[in-house]
Amino acid sequence: MIVIGLTGGILSGKTTVSQTLAQRGAVIIDADKIGHEAYKPDTKTWQQVVAAFGRDILEENGEIDRKKLGEIVFNDPQALSRLNQIVHPVMHSMMKQEIERLRREGAQVVVLEAAVLIEANWTDLVNEVWVTVAPEETVVKRLKNRGGLSEEEARARIRSQISSEERAKHADVIIDTDCELAEVEAKVEELWQGLQWKQGVARDEC
Ligand code: ATP
Repeated sequence: MIVIGLTGGILSGKTTVSQTLAQRGAVIIDADKIGHEAYKPDTKTWQQVVAAFGRDILEENGEIDRKKLGEIVFNDPQALSRLNQIVHPVMHSMMKQEIERLRREGAQVVVLEAAVLIEANWTDLVNEVWVTVAPEETVVKRLKNRGGLSEEEARARIRSQISSEERAKHADVIIDTDCELAEVEAKVEELWQGLQWKQGVARDEC
């Protein structure tokens, strides 16, 4: 089994790439979903986060309101670091368990999609690091098309993350998504073919 860590800045195309890989047969682990699990009410992590940030971050049903928490931590590096110290180790161990479960099930290619793969030091979980990149202006354009965050919020998030240059230092593969979607898919298809060879599962068709 090969485990790919897929990372990249906000709206850089991580999900576009992971979906293309999933269509080819890769199993995706979404770190964001693991984060949701870790934050479930009354878990130890939930208690620690509430103790650190107060009950104002809770929704009426007791769940952590990730938007409210995001507003706090993406404008305050110290708060972000405090949150990461609580949540990242728990997520690491949950993702490790999931990878081991998939290994036992016989999965061939697993993709761990995680925006903070490098910052959180999760690269020990993966065999290769793939990084999606897109220039900031393209990211801002995508943001306007998609809605959600305001331009100001998006730029604050970009600043709170490490730069593409820093990510590139850790990358085995860099996927520039500043092109037509069909071209991104073609790049991913080529990488997928390369993986089949690494896996030794490609058939000799000559
Ligand atoms: P997030 O930061 O939300 O996790 P992401 O890095 O996973 O984002 P995607 O969700 O893949 O990025 O892409 C962000 C948005 O940009 C989506 O609306 C997607 O459809 C669009 N997009 C991605 N790649 C391209 C492209 N090459 N051309 C046009 N639009 C694109």
